[in-house]
Amino acid sequence: MAVETNGDILISDVIAYPLTQKLPQPTITSWGRYDEVSIVLVEVRTDAGIVGIGETLARFAPHAYAHLIEDALKPRLVGQPAGNIAAHWANMRRALSGRAGGMLLEAISGVDIALWDILGKAADLPVHALLGGIGRKRIDVYAAAVNWRDDALMEEQLDELLEQGFRQIKIKMASPVADACRKIELMRRRAGDEVALCVDANWAYGLDEAVEVGKALADCGYVWFEEPLAPENEQGYEELRRLCDVPLAAGESNFTVDQAKRLVTSRTLSVLQPDVARAGGITETRRMAELARAFDVDYAPHIGMSGIVCETASVHLSAAMPNFRIMECEGDRSPFKTELADLAPGCLRQKDGTLDVPQGPGLGLQINWDAVERLRAPE
Ligand SMILES: [Mg+2]
Repeated sequence: MAVETNGDILISDVIAYPLTQKLPQPTITSWGRYDEVSIVLVEVRTDAGIVGIGETLARFAPHAYAHLIEDALKPRLVGQPAGNIAAHWANMRRALSGRAGGMLLEAISGVDIALWDILGKAADLPVHALLGGIGRKRIDVYAAAVNWRDDALMEEQLDELLEQGFRQIKIKMASPVADACRKIELMRRRAGDEVALCVDANWAYGLDEAVEVGKALADCGYVWFEEPLAPENEQGYEELRRLCDVPLAAGESNFTVDQAKRLVTSRTLSVLQPDVARAGGITETRRMAELARAFDVDYAPHIGMSGIVCETASVHLSAAMPNFRIMECEGDRSPFKTELADLAPGCLRQKDGTLDVPQGPGLGLQINWDAVERLRAPE
């Protein structure tokens, strides 16, 4: 039953919980080694007793993010009708008079996700239905990731992921060009021709190197080459697109639709990968996915090293967006995925490379508040 409101539901409080935990196994990309991970959980309370939960991507200084949310964003929200999400988004973004990006947008993302959770609970509808979803009950997911550093380990990790039923698998790659090309062939031979493979370089290459790696990927039938270059090098992406045939994917480093515009409208990217806990929440990620749809570019959510709230918000977007292709699914077993809420995380409930879409009101998550206390970042 929809909640009886007798008018607007008003926001009464915004609380940010900085969380930090050691990972059971370090995550290694070309960008660095992560032994621990942090996020900020955002709780938005209302005078109707409905509580919304969001998540902010906060790779460093989670206390600083929490202060930003409570000091700069909360005063713009308390006393306002919870349902006016686009107005809140614009008002929060006005905290910064410069170009959008960085910590502020990540902070807004957490609040925005929580506001969609409230709207869904008030309407007794799952978020994907509020988004005018197209009714997907299951979504396709791909496994992230096989790590490039050791051939034997690569084969072992690939075999494990194939055994788990994944039909698309990502290879993290940052080897020098010749070794990268060899490993690209090695993985293709091992996986066979039926499995979709993609490579994520996390900006490991310069343009000339990326062209060589990209040609090897095209020859071996990989479905995309993710973040070969630094995200600021948009001209480099455009040249790379002209010089090799492998489809390009990027977007996890972008904030807002404006930062996706050039590479989407030029169709330099074939796949756009915004992170809902970074790019500006559900509101802005939907705008990015819709821009991509208008230019025949696919939407494939990034969720790297995030918690269950980011992952679940991404599932709702995946269920709703017409141009959704496939969602990332991580096996890092971070406590933010396994302990923070009652819903089993993506990789644990995936079957044959697909994942069920939660059908409860809002995001469909029950937060384990004991775990929130246990996972708190030390002062
Ligand atoms: Mg990536």
